[in-house]
Amino acid sequence: MKAMVYHGNRDVRLGDVEEPRPRPGEAKLRIDYCGICATDIEEYIYGPAFISHDEPNPLTGKKTPRIIGHELTGTVVETGAGVRNVQPGDRAVINGTLTCGGCWWCLRGEASQCPSMTAVGFGKDGGLAEYIVWPAAQVVTLPANVTSREAGLVEPAAVGHHAAIRGRVKPGETVAVVGVGPVGMLAMQAARTMGARVFAVDKREMSLNLALELGAGGAVNADEGDPGKALRNLNGGRGPDVIIDAAGGPGSTQQSVEWVRNGGRVVLVAIHTSKPEFDFVNVVAKEVEIIGSLGYLQHDVEDVVRHISSGTMVTEPLISDVIGLDQVIDVGYAKMMSDAKDFFRILVSPSR
Ligand SMILES: [Zn+2]
Ligand SMILES: [Zn+2]
Repeated sequence: MKAMVYHGNRDVRLGDVEEPRPRPGEAKLRIDYCGICATDIEEYIYGPAFISHDEPNPLTGKKTPRIIGHELTGTVVETGAGVRNVQPGDRAVINGTLTCGGCWWCLRGEASQCPSMTAVGFGKDGGLAEYIVWPAAQVVTLPANVTSREAGLVEPAAVGHHAAIRGRVKPGETVAVVGVGPVGMLAMQAARTMGARVFAVDKREMSLNLALELGAGGAVNADEGDPGKALRNLNGGRGPDVIIDAAGGPGSTQQSVEWVRNGGRVVLVAIHTSKPEFDFVNVVAKEVEIIGSLGYLQHDVEDVVRHISSGTMVTEPLISDVIGLDQVIDVGYAKMMSDAKDFFRILVSPSR
């Protein structure tokens, strides 16, 4: 089958690889869509960081060459022995996180902190391919009213949902999301499903306009005037209860701490590629809680699928383009690496 294979730094190629076969407990899916994410680009330019390269991954025993792609949706075509929760024909997404299941964190339900944690497309072959096999217990089927296209964004939606959960967002609270790219826009919607009033902060008018369409009660341009004051004006003179920093820029966390209300929470969901200087005075003086959020858990995936089905989370407007496997580098990566930020998610359709 055709697949995009990561061989090393700046070396990702379309290749012909053996089609995987499901072992007992596994399901084989034909990939319908797989998104290209900033993390893929970071692995390409700066990596390998999360992709097991020199040593085999301790959990999967696998290293590069690795099929990449972690934001996938597909259709079950075959199941291994003993699989009862899915059957051929089911459209599905996956919980792409792989954990040991037995450590202190796994046993507490905090699988995202399992020391052995790896993920689809990093420690095990991913979704930029015609087929994948995956543990059936981590395959989540889609209701009939959720299209496969929409489901192509379940993974970033689960990341955003996890961030809102980490922020302990309560009904009636206000949540500002700094950086409403795909993950930020989805975190904003997730916070809204939890009963919060939500605001968007971004430099791009295009993102702010879409945020307003998707339920933001206010949109603040990060480059204009005093964004902190604009946020206070939206919230009766007080900063938001929670700020989700999905921008991960050099100054975005510092600003989030400045803008959040005294005693508020700041959730960091973006992976920072720089090491900015940070003034901790406001953290102490304002008693701000800073909370990290990494990836997602299976219940985030299940919740997101339910929210998309009920219409409380919307992903379709975030799909900017659908390309073929042979266009991943020339079109997909090229666009992701360009300065033009006039798009949200690019999906790959491997059967195209
Ligand atoms: Zn991603
Ligand atoms: Zn574990």
